[in-house]
Amino acid sequence: MRNSVPSASAGTAAVVSCHVERPLDDDAWSRFDRLQRRRPGGFDVVALVRPPDREYGEDEEAWLERAYAAAARAPFGLHTHWTSPTHARPTGGDPAERVRREAEWMRAHGLAPAYFCGGGWYTDDAVRAVVAELGLVDCTPRTGTPAPGVLPTTHSLGALARAVLRPLPAYVHAYFHDYDLLDPARRRALSAALAVLGRRARPL
Ligand SMILES: [Zn+2]
Repeated sequence: MRNSVPSASAGTAAVVSCHVERPLDDDAWSRFDRLQRRRPGGFDVVALVRPPDREYGEDEEAWLERAYAAAARAPFGLHTHWTSPTHARPTGGDPAERVRREAEWMRAHGLAPAYFCGGGWYTDDAVRAVVAELGLVDCTPRTGTPAPGVLPTTHSLGALARAVLRPLPAYVHAYFHDYDLLDPARRRALSAALAVLGRRARPL
């Protein structure tokens, strides 16, 4: 692999984020915790965390302890799942109201979310308006370049693994899921790709 890595493209600015989907799963959390501490490729991994869902019996205290640890290390954000822990997109209700409620719940518990990414990449005009009103940087768009209040998420793990072997675009925002870290092959692919990205791009 070393021989096939193109030389540095000084112009690339990169962001790395993780959708922390299973914050209460001990295995997924410990993998994420270790990775975030390690700062792979020299990147602070932005934790976009799904809040605890009381309707599904999720433990708020355990969640908060982990969220405080993640927020102390790197930028922190809200990852809303509208329907259930495993069903991200909305199936009813008022999606914007849920974003506001979750961000305010985080703030009431001493967290300062600065980023937002809609579960299942869902958004709508009202959600965008609430995200902007709350002062959150929106990572939900899948294409484009940074703009005030927006940091599009451009590369999945697979796309990143391919992209780092070619000339890089000026902006890369790579994301993965905490549960990707449970799969040894995906974990290795992520570490390798971030190591190369770290040599070829600067953190935004
Ligand atoms: Zn999600």
